[in-house]
Amino acid sequence: PTVLQDSVLEVPKVRWTDIAGLDHVRQLLESITSGFNTDCIQYPNLDTKFGGPQSRKGVLLYGPPGCAKTLIAQAVATESNQNFLAVKGSELIKMYIGESERAIRDVFRRARAAKPCIIFFDEIDSIGKSREKSQDSGLNVVATLLNEMDGIEALKEVFIIGATNRPDILDSALIRTGRFDAHIHIGLPNREARRQIFQINTRKRPLAGDVDLDVLASGTEGSSGADIKGLCSVAVELAISDYEKSPESPPEVRMCHFQRALDTHVPHTIK
Ligand code: ATP
Repeated sequence: PTVLQDSVLEVPKVRWTDIAGLDHVRQLLESITSGFNTDCIQYPNLDTKFGGPQSRKGVLLYGPPGCAKTLIAQAVATESNQNFLAVKGSELIKMYIGESERAIRDVFRRARAAKPCIIFFDEIDSIGKSREKSQDSGLNVVATLLNEMDGIEALKEVFIIGATNRPDILDSALIRTGRFDAHIHIGLPNREARRQIFQINTRKRPLAGDVDLDVLASGTEGSSGADIKGLCSVAVELAISDYEKSPESPPEVRMCHFQRALDTHVPHTIK
């Protein structure tokens, strides 16, 4: 059988509290996935009263890179006690003709064997590209994915989270009800979220008293969470190298380190 080098089965440890500024997304996802945990369902017969269960097989997260789509998928898995199988669309598509389809079937087979399980398809646009726009080989890949999604029983065993920066090129069959039922936009963090992302990424660091996260948040408009994470690492590196040069100074990250990091910082995502 085809072995997908890049698909990792894991139980992630990301919690909602690790993610800044996306409470509305959390609420939406919790309402969609509340059926996972049957013990928690407040009104167990509600589905029956409303004529049977809703088919909720997956959600699509879309928006600029580095804005927590992967983290969100991992938090859903952690908070609902599910396994997590992560697959990169670009890895799947670079295989030989026929192999991608086999690999997709293999992913679903592995997920069912590890149920309850979330399959996270990162860069789903590379496998779910509109059949009109892709070459012949794309045809079967999309069909296989649709077929596998249709074959799973909603919320019983496998739930799918897709992520993309290009929702516009996805095959329309993929994004309609019964497949990716909900489409959730994950945008760039606002000022308050940026402040929290700074906080999350510096909480284990010795910060000097002059570090003002509000000022940093205001000065990083247009940055993604991944940009801010990168900026924090650069500031720490600068602090370490300063400390190496003058070990008599206190071992801490100062505002000047963040400012120097900011001077060389170009956000990857401009709104
Ligand atoms: P891509 O589209 O490039 O795959 P993504 O949207 O999946 O990106 P993640 O991989 O989830 O982005 O985020 C990258 C890193 O950025 C995270 O590991 C985290 O450290 C940081 N990050 C991004 N957004 C947030 C956020 N809202 N709260 C906390 N950390 C964040």
